[in-house]
Amino acid sequence: MREPIIKIENVCVTYNAGKLGETKALKNVSIEIFPEEYVIFFGPSGCGKSTLLYTMAGLEIPESGVVNVIGKNLAEASQRELVEYHRTKLGMIFQAFYLIPSLSVLDNVVLPQMFHRKKPKERKERALEVLKRFGINQYADHLPTELSGGQQQRVAICRAVMNDPDIVFADEPVGNLDSAASEKVMQLLYELNTKDKKTVILVTHDSRYLQFAHRIIYLRDGEVVREVTNTERKQLREAKIRPFVALALEEFSRYYPHLDEGELKAKFLSHYLLDLTEERLQERLEVLVRKRSAGEITREQFIARVNTPFTEGGVGLYEQTAEHIADNLDAVLEESQFMAEHFKHFPESYELLQQGISRLRNRLLSGYHGHLTDEQSERLNQAIKARLEGSLDHRQFKEVLDRPLKEGGVGLHYQTAQDFGRRIEVYLIDYAKYTPTVAAVSDGTKIANV
Ligand code: ADP
Ligand code: MG
Repeated sequence: MREPIIKIENVCVTYNAGKLGETKALKNVSIEIFPEEYVIFFGPSGCGKSTLLYTMAGLEIPESGVVNVIGKNLAEASQRELVEYHRTKLGMIFQAFYLIPSLSVLDNVVLPQMFHRKKPKERKERALEVLKRFGINQYADHLPTELSGGQQQRVAICRAVMNDPDIVFADEPVGNLDSAASEKVMQLLYELNTKDKKTVILVTHDSRYLQFAHRIIYLRDGEVVREVTNTERKQLREAKIRPFVALALEEFSRYYPHLDEGELKAKFLSHYLLDLTEERLQERLEVLVRKRSAGEITREQFIARVNTPFTEGGVGLYEQTAEHIADNLDAVLEESQFMAEHFKHFPESYELLQQGISRLRNRLLSGYHGHLTDEQSERLNQAIKARLEGSLDHRQFKEVLDRPLKEGGVGLHYQTAQDFGRRIEVYLIDYAKYTPTVAAVSDGTKIANV
């Protein structure tokens, strides 16, 4: 099985701890990055992207949490191992290039091999080869300042890959470049990933480049707020850690592309609660569901408005029906919020996972009058787990529930399978990383607006 090349868990970084101007730059961040992945950290200025990058590179020591890189816990590495790690396993590219102005381009590129046992001639040959590869060997004897910004950044890329590292970290590498030079540099980084099979981790706040990555991790105020998988690139991660995606919700969104996430969830929930044949009634119910979900109206207000005649602006349902819907809605909201909180850092621990699965199972089984054998019960657990991990989508989940036991399914009645399948999506509606932009990753502008 593929192991992550970088795995950080519950990492916190605080600047000026306990002093004036204390900044929590990273709050409980957990991320796994796999070999040969291209991952982008995206977010507004000050959200913690650089801090995250430097933490992974071992340049920033977190106050808590674990940083594992290439099978090593950095906190347990000796000084010598850290130096070795920097020299041989990773290459860094910065916005400001950081070339040494008094050294020639060639000598800047040779620099990472200064402590190699290699002969100077071999080092130079290697440097020239790399410069040639990136199309700037003709400037080998120039000083960096004689080159354009784009060319200087290419020299910095050469320096970063001189020792053939496994991971390339780039912090806003085109932040100082014009668009033509930016294009070129981004193309080279992409090639480092696709041709040279380097793991590339890029920090940017520019949405134009999101199309290059396998995954985009969105940060805000030191937290990972969501993650988008670029469906245009074949994914390298094991299915087991693929995050749960609200596929049912996403499918739903195709019919209602103009709705925002909150509106979409309200629509999803109200259809679950009650399928009204009258479109205008359904819309009114949705508005109320949305308000109730957001805590803007109380249960009593919700019931009153659902009960109000249509001509007076309500949904026009009987009071008893309104109460029933209100109770169902509150139960669902409570459950989905619990699940979202419970699985905030999924997959966090085995215990949390098991607790979540058995809670979901009990929820699904409440009101179920049949009897499950131990085997069925175990299969149901497995199916829930697979759904949570995303290795079963919402359709496959229902299909597995319905499939006979002897064919590896849970062997539930068709209607029960449909019912459970619909309800699990509802319970996980807040946990779900609903990503309306998955299909739009190649059009980065859309992502920037979310
Ligand atoms: P980004 O790269 O996303 O712009 P940073 O990781 O550089 O964000 O910064 C995250 C937060 O930490 C910001 O509020 C920034 O002001 C603060 N910060 C970063 N570096 C330092 C530092 N050395 N000392 C104090 N605060 C810092
Ligand atoms: Mg930064």
